Order: sequence, then C-alpha cells, then structure tokens
Amino acid sequence: ATDTRRASTARSAEAFLAAQAVMPGGVSSPVRAFRSVGGTPRFMASARGAYLYDVDGSEYVDLVGSWGPMVLGHAHPAVVWAVQQAASQGLSFGAPTERETALAREIQRRVPAVERLRFVSTGTEAAMTAIRLARGVTGRPLIIKFAGCYHGHLDALLAQAGSGVATLALPGSAGVTEATAAETLVLPYNDVAAVEAAFATHGERIAAVVTEAAPANMGVVPPLPGFNAALRRITREHGAMLVLDEVLTGFRASSSGWWGLESAVEGWDPDLLLFGKVVGGGLPVAAVGGRQDVLEHLAPLGPVYQAGTLSGNPVATAAGLATLQAADDAVYARITHAAHVVADALTAALTAEGVAHSIQWAGTLFSPAFVDPADGPVTDYARAQAQDTWRYPALFHSLLEQGVHAPPSVYEAWFLSAAHDDAALGRVVEALPAAARAAATA
Ligand code: PMP
Repeated sequence: ATDTRRASTARSAEAFLAAQAVMPGGVSSPVRAFRSVGGTPRFMASARGAYLYDVDGSEYVDLVGSWGPMVLGHAHPAVVWAVQQAASQGLSFGAPTERETALAREIQRRVPAVERLRFVSTGTEAAMTAIRLARGVTGRPLIIKFAGCYHGHLDALLAQAGSGVATLALPGSAGVTEATAAETLVLPYNDVAAVEAAFATHGERIAAVVTEAAPANMGVVPPLPGFNAALRRITREHGAMLVLDEVLTGFRASSSGWWGLESAVEGWDPDLLLFGKVVGGGLPVAAVGGRQDVLEHLAPLGPVYQAGTLSGNPVATAAGLATLQAADDAVYARITHAAHVVADALTAALTAEGVAHSIQWAGTLFSPAFVDPADGPVTDYARAQAQDTWRYPALFHSLLEQGVHAPPSVYEAWFLSAAHDDAALGRVVEALPAAARAAATA
C-alpha cells in the first residue's frame, strides 16, 4: 500500500477543474474546496474502514469521517447490508414506517431528555425547526447564539458562525437581511456574565439560547464546567428555551453524546436537542427532540408548521439505525483509544519541534490549536481566531502527502472511528513528526 501513496493527483486536478466549470467552487459544501489550506481537493472514489481511496488510486487514513457520521468507519458491513435490504424494499414511500419509531426509540434510550422527536434530513433543518418551535411556543422573537458556534446555514444562525464561515473568515453571510440579523444576539462563548447581561436587557423578548453541546466548529472548545448548567438556570428564570445542538457531538462525544457526559455530573435537561450526522450513519437523517409539551406544538398536533418529502426516509433511517445498533460500548472505547493515540503523537511531535499548541478535548473529539499553552486552553472564538492559523496548511499538506487525510481547516475537529485499528493509527503516528516539522518551519 505504501507505494500507492504519494501517487499522482492528476485525475483529482482534472476532476476539480471540470467540477468548477459547472458548480461554484467545484464543491457541494465550501470547506471541501481546500480554500484555507490551498491545493487540490482529492476527489474520492470509495472508502472502507479507516481508509479513503481517491480517483488517482491513492489510499488515505481518514481523519474526517464524513465530518462525524462514520463512528464505525466506512462501509461497515452491517450498515451496508441494512441499506441494501431497505433499498430493495423501496426508496421512499411518503408514508410512515416502523423503522422511524425504532430509530426514535434508540435515540430516546440513549438520551432520555428526548420525550418526543421529529425527523428531518439535515442538521440545518433541525436547527431551523427548533428556532421556529421556540418562537412559536414562547411568542418571542430573539435568539441568542455564541460566536464560533455553527448550527447549519440557516439565516438566523449564520452570524459569527464557525465551520466553513470561520474557515473563509466571513463575519456572517451576504443575503441575510438586517431584520433577521437583528433578531440574533451573538455572545462570546463560555461567558455567563454576557448571557446574564443580555437577559437583563432583553429577557422578555428572548425565545431561546442555542448552543453547541460542546463546540467543535471553531476547533474543539469545550464548555467550562458549569457553563451549560448556567444556561439552563438563566433560560429557566426568564422563560426561554435552551436548545442544545448535538448534531456533531451526539453519539460521537460519547454513546449518549455530550449531554450524556454532562448530565451524569450536573443533572440538567435542555428543552430541545438537535441531532444529525451519526443518527443517519452517513445518509441524510437529522432530528429535533426534547420536551413532549414543546414538540407537540408541531403540526399536525399544533400550530408550528414543519414538513419534509424525504423526512424519515426508509433507506436513510436504516443506515442510522444499523449504525446506532452497532455502536456499543466497545466502539466508543475504541474511538477513545484511537483519538488518544493520535492526539498524544500529535502533541509529542509538535512539542519536539517547539511548536506552541494546545490539544482541545470534548469527549472523543479533539483538535489542535496553535496557541501558547501558558495562556491556558482556548475557551472562546476570539482566542481561536488569534492562534497561529498559518501553521495548519503546512501540517495538513505534509499529512496528505504521507497518506493521511486530516480536516482541511484548523477550525474543525479530528474524527476517529472504531475502524482505526493499530495499522491505521501507526500510519498516522509515523506521519506526524514530518508534519510537525512542516508546521514548525511554515
Ligand atoms: N450543528 C452542528 C453542531 C454542526 O456541526 C453542523 C454541521 N457540521 C450542523 C449543525 C449542520 O448540519 P448539516 O450540515 O447536516 O446541515
């Protein structure tokens, strides 16, 4: 396999040009275009276990995992089988199926705060639905979000968003009206006093606080102990909803998401939770869940409208259900082990090269931040943006040339899977010293 790495990228380069002639930037989602790291995105042909295979025939250890869903690794036999079975029975019915109930039950089993749940197709839709619900239930207009948090590309939550918005250094997005922007209050993350102050001024008009359960779209920036619980207390005092976005962390940060890690210690429930990624196992499934009395405001029971032609799709829910059914404690133990092997090797390599950095953790998720560790970990977006971001492209490209596909932006988490066995991890560990040297001399 070693000689197939460092192969030509001619066909990817050709494919990228052809794609750009028909799609803006040549991609269906911005961060895939490698704008912040430069170079040619690798066009993928297939994936199996811990590995990606590009159109030029090169093999890569995958540290992106389709941005989160692939906790079992790619093309897991049980998931592929479930999808094949489901597909052979029809692709979409536009009518309810028993599989939706089974998937909803599995989510509820892991996260008891989910009393009721509505399936949608993307995390963006889940966030959009949660906001409409919060406004519909409270009769209030304003939403609080935190700088650096990403909740999808809905107008209301694009201000100072993480993920691709951070990667492209955009303050928000063109095309969002001033009226919409004015209904979103953006606060610094981990700043309880800022939340108290916003509620002191606008409390009667705030419908919801929306927050990533543990942010991972400005790099990984975990909540300080007590931050989420403080959000719970403040929203409750003011009659506002707390919306916990677990699209990325759900069934990834732990078997019960970030909520599971934190509620075990602090014992609080949000009003609404957003899920995506792992719940679809690589196909488009997402969901908004939470309090029964709140969810029952949705049509057909209540006046808040929400619908979807492909919502709860039988093939997509088959992938999600098979993924969650296979994602047992051993899977999370393996992901945890794999993440620590890579993070330990990364920090050792960077330290050996004298590159100042902090490894930021949230459950099984981590990312490096190029900051002076003497100043403590990164706790908000301002500090995440102030890091030596210019070191990352050199690290990234060195890894890529050595057959390791890391996230193409410093603002993204590194995703391991249960398929990252010792051989795959060994390749990453072997590649890191040269990558750290590249970062040091960038
Ligand atoms: N919320 C979070 C925390 C996310 O990480 C993402 C996507 N990365 C979304 C929402 C949006 O999900 P989707 O891309 O499926 O619309």
